Amino acid sequence: MANTIQVKNPATGEFIDEVNIQTDAEIKKAVQRGHEAFQKWSKTNAHERSRLMRAWSDKVKENKEELAKLMTLENGKPLNESRGEIDYSTDYLDWYAEEAKRIYGRTIPSHTDSKRLIVTREPIGLVAAITPWNFPTAMMARKAAPALAAGCTFIVKPAPETPLSGMKFIDYAYEVGIPRDVIQYVIGEGSVVGEIFTGSEFVRKITFTGSTAVGKLLIKNSSNNIQHATMELGGHAPLIIAEDADIELAAQQAIATKFRNAGQTCVCANRIIVHEKVMEPFIEKFVAGVKKLTVGNGLEEGTDIGPIINEKGYTKIVKQIEDAIGKGAEVLVGNQVNANPEKGYFFVYPTVLKNVKTDMTIMHEETFGPVAPITSFKKIEEAVELANGTPYGLAAYFFTNDYRTGVYLHEHLKFGIIGWNDGGPSAAHVPFGGMKESGLGREGGIEGIEPYLETKYMSIGGL
Ligand code: NAP
Repeated sequence: MANTIQVKNPATGEFIDEVNIQTDAEIKKAVQRGHEAFQKWSKTNAHERSRLMRAWSDKVKENKEELAKLMTLENGKPLNESRGEIDYSTDYLDWYAEEAKRIYGRTIPSHTDSKRLIVTREPIGLVAAITPWNFPTAMMARKAAPALAAGCTFIVKPAPETPLSGMKFIDYAYEVGIPRDVIQYVIGEGSVVGEIFTGSEFVRKITFTGSTAVGKLLIKNSSNNIQHATMELGGHAPLIIAEDADIELAAQQAIATKFRNAGQTCVCANRIIVHEKVMEPFIEKFVAGVKKLTVGNGLEEGTDIGPIINEKGYTKIVKQIEDAIGKGAEVLVGNQVNANPEKGYFFVYPTVLKNVKTDMTIMHEETFGPVAPITSFKKIEEAVELANGTPYGLAAYFFTNDYRTGVYLHEHLKFGIIGWNDGGPSAAHVPFGGMKESGLGREGGIEGIEPYLETKYMSIGGL
């Protein structure tokens, strides 16, 4: 087995850097160090933890441009999106630096004069994280920030496609004085590191962002040591456009949510479900907007859509397009690629498909690419049935100016995140996470720190 990871630029296939794969013994040692460091970090007072986290955030902000370039180099996303991801990452550090100071306990009125009932909150212990390539720093920040704020120590395995920006992000924490064993990264193959994490009695919580298949395996293995688990898994977001929607807004927001990161996000719209009466005006505006998107190297000014991360992702997207066309979908724009397997780059041009039906793979399998399948509905109940008809329940979007339709959709859609007339509902201070097979637990907001805390109840008697 190779003992290094070769990191490549997905826009050109060119080599960027290599990272050493650690041995099992080294990874286990790092886990042990994380556990030992917990004894001191958990006793460091909340204001000091908060100060260090803000200093870390400031350091990242100072180096935003350098970090953004590195992210675009290894991930391919347009530079502006990388800058946005770094802002989003520091938002988590800033938000949870404040939350560190607000971890409250409570006293419960006693049922007898001779007792006092007290509840305190404690950090859970060492937290182990596994993160994906599509948001190399944000997925780390969303986990590390509440962990450190709560008083937990943290160890993360970044995705092999994009380890560099995540490692650099954590290096800035060391530069401001966060002790090395309080937050660590380890490099190794997912299945190997996953087994070490779930097999360790020192790891009290496992937190993962990635595919549902790997999430299920980690949940199963977390039972070995009864570890707590937070899982941010796959999605298949519906985007419903009602008869009375503001079509201009719907088209513009649909483009934003569909094509961000070349469609390689877990919350990106994967099924556009349009009322038949507004299909024509919607398509006209949507397609006109899609035609303006520029495909290219994310480092070049004006690029809207970068490369697909790798050949596996590319093949999956192309197969979904072919399957849909083979079953009767109409191509309104796109269905064009620029791929060079020898050099190692894969671009898919933004593609819009009409007359998409539920028997097509694209309607139930995640695409993770810049393809927008459009289907129609007559009654809102039909749209809901279609929207809820996959095992996923991460994000859903709808566009309507009728409050009755809006309330109905809000109450009937089985999704953890909903955007009403909004294609970008995510933020550090709100809960993010999915229902059904899209995950367990929430990250972000006040909900996001809860999974890093244990509740301890004490009854004082004999008074
Ligand atoms: P993936 O295969 O699940 O990989 C994600 C991470 O898991 C990588 O670090 C990978 O490392 C590791 N991994 C793979 N097999 C593992 C195993 N057996 N045990 C432990 N770790 C393992 O997912 P992906 O296809 O790269 O990423 C895209 C997926 O992530 C999509 O399904 C997307 O919906 C989901 N996602 C979800 C969210 C969310 O918040 N809900 C956000 C972003 C992405 P190795 O490659 O080294 O094995």
